[in-house]
Amino acid sequence: MLDFFTIFSKGGLVLWCFQGVRGPAATAPVNALIRSVLLQERGGNNSFTHEALTLKYKLDNQFELVFVVGFQKILTLTYVDKLIDDVHKEFRDKYRNEFQQKGALGLLNGTFDFKDDFMRLLRDAEESSKVRAPTVMKTFEQSLKSQKTVKCMIETRGEKPKEKVKNKKNKGSKKDGTEAVAAPSKASAGDKQLSAAGDKEELTKDEILQKNREEFFRRHMKAGEKSRSPKPDAQKEKGKKPRVWDLGNSNAKVLDYSNSATNGSAEACPVEEFDSNMALGDKNREPGRLYDLEYESDDEAEEEKVVQNPSKPSVKKGGLGGMFGMLKGLVGSKSLTRGDMDPVLEKMKDHLIAKNVAAEIAVQLCESVAKKLEGKVMGTFTTVTSTVKQALQEALVQILQPQRRVDVLRDVMDAQRHRRPYVITFCGVNGVGKSTNLAKISFWLIENGFSVLIAACDTFRAGAVEQLRTHTRRLNALHPPESHGGRTMVQLYEKGYGKDAAGIAMEAISYARNQGFDVVLVDTAGRMQDNAPLMTALAKLIAVNAPDLVLFVGEALVGNEAVDQLVKFNKALADHSMAQTPRLIDGIVLTKFDTIDDKVGAAISMTYITSKPIVFVGTGQTYCDLRSLNAKAVVAALMKA
Ligand code: GDP
Repeated sequence: MLDFFTIFSKGGLVLWCFQGVRGPAATAPVNALIRSVLLQERGGNNSFTHEALTLKYKLDNQFELVFVVGFQKILTLTYVDKLIDDVHKEFRDKYRNEFQQKGALGLLNGTFDFKDDFMRLLRDAEESSKVRAPTVMKTFEQSLKSQKTVKCMIETRGEKPKEKVKNKKNKGSKKDGTEAVAAPSKASAGDKQLSAAGDKEELTKDEILQKNREEFFRRHMKAGEKSRSPKPDAQKEKGKKPRVWDLGNSNAKVLDYSNSATNGSAEACPVEEFDSNMALGDKNREPGRLYDLEYESDDEAEEEKVVQNPSKPSVKKGGLGGMFGMLKGLVGSKSLTRGDMDPVLEKMKDHLIAKNVAAEIAVQLCESVAKKLEGKVMGTFTTVTSTVKQALQEALVQILQPQRRVDVLRDVMDAQRHRRPYVITFCGVNGVGKSTNLAKISFWLIENGFSVLIAACDTFRAGAVEQLRTHTRRLNALHPPESHGGRTMVQLYEKGYGKDAAGIAMEAISYARNQGFDVVLVDTAGRMQDNAPLMTALAKLIAVNAPDLVLFVGEALVGNEAVDQLVKFNKALADHSMAQTPRLIDGIVLTKFDTIDDKVGAAISMTYITSKPIVFVGTGQTYCDLRSLNAKAVVAALMKA
């Protein structure tokens, strides 16, 4: 039934392998497991699916071994976990001396004659799973239903609605056994002469439960009414109010778009003055350079705190100082057990959640770190504190390192060589910063000498086209044709509102090709991830225009919500695409990073869930507030107590 069982060292040496009769070779699936799970810090779950196979694995951190079993995923093999445990124990015990005495050489030269032992263990495991007797159906007499009295049933039906609720509740507690079944009959029979103290107590408990339940329903109903009723009125009253900027142009005429002809005319928007210094931001930067996210590491300070004051756990709530302080005593020679690590991992998990990492991912991460460290023998001068911390840091950096690197400038140059524009599509929900960051990316591209055509494909949100037009004007003012040999570096392609976005994008791309633009940036309308018609429209836009890069724009501010959006956008693109191999999201623009202080968990959650690289990070509202992701910066912020 098993396709294969293989034992190899973490260094990559296959020590022993069992190959099933008709199973596929273990190489490809095991390589996939190593690439996608073991090297990617996704080891929280000890199971992995590769094509038609399920792989289960176990790590031995003491001897640096990996045990992997593979079987067809349609099979439900209940004995696999036991088998892998048994084989692990037996193999380790049998060759313990070789591992301990000869080390790596032992592995290289060792002959591991394990076939007979393995076949015995496999037989035992298979037998033990068969031995388990099938569950026999209960007879009617044994069932709880048989213990119900006819009287009880009749009275249940005849009761008033309020009492019915009581009965329903008792029904719910049926699982508790006969006592629970007896309770409704007592209560519903209306037998008020309950004399035994125990019975009285039970009735009181019931009543308390009943009261709580009623209270819960009452509150729930109230909350429901509250949240439902005032909303439509409030919305009606509120309407859409224009935003008045403190520092911007407060002239109402500027914001009045009612008469502006949005038919592609460049002169439709009134000219406005703007403070170029304010729009630019940092003036001392090197033009065209995409800086890494800056960070200030307080690792050393924290380390010192732990060393100097080992007996007192840090008082900071949720701080890593306290967490790592707990393992201070375990130094050298002891191999780490799950028991040693559990309290630390618990704190570690809470710390990550407090930093906005999705709870589920925090659990998986800690699980992965635990699996990596369990059984590991500490070096003489290594504290458990530093080992655990390092393992977590390594895991986090690993997650943030993209599996596929996106180098936009190189790809644009490549497209240039092929005499075609490089197309980037931006998508995301409303207000996350699509247009703003599109403008920042335009600015960065222009500074690198590339001309940009902005396609205004948000044909839905009022003001979206004007917003891009303003950006275009400003970018042109900052980079006038005079300083680029008479070449217009940025232009807007727009067709007003209410038109088909996919069509406009297509026209813009062919316009860019004819006019020799290097890059086309396609702005799309914001849409909720659950809105099927709008997601279909986006999938169509992407399928029809086949952009080189599809960027999902998500704000770091909303944390886990951004993860949900990203996952659902990706899924929706797959579901609503007509193509056989649907085009999915290629990368992430993480915006509003300047607003989250050190709660940087969204970056981890987003990359962990989708394995998509964070290509750009938005760090403010000026054109220079664009950065590339620096994994170390994010991890440092995440580890900060
Ligand atoms: P869109 O609806 O997705 O196109 O969002 P907008 O581009 O209109 O941006 C919405 C708001 O977010 C605007 O007020 C932007 O100035 C602001 N914004 C965008 N990116 C950032 C950022 O990186 N940091 C900060 N602090 N604000 C941003």
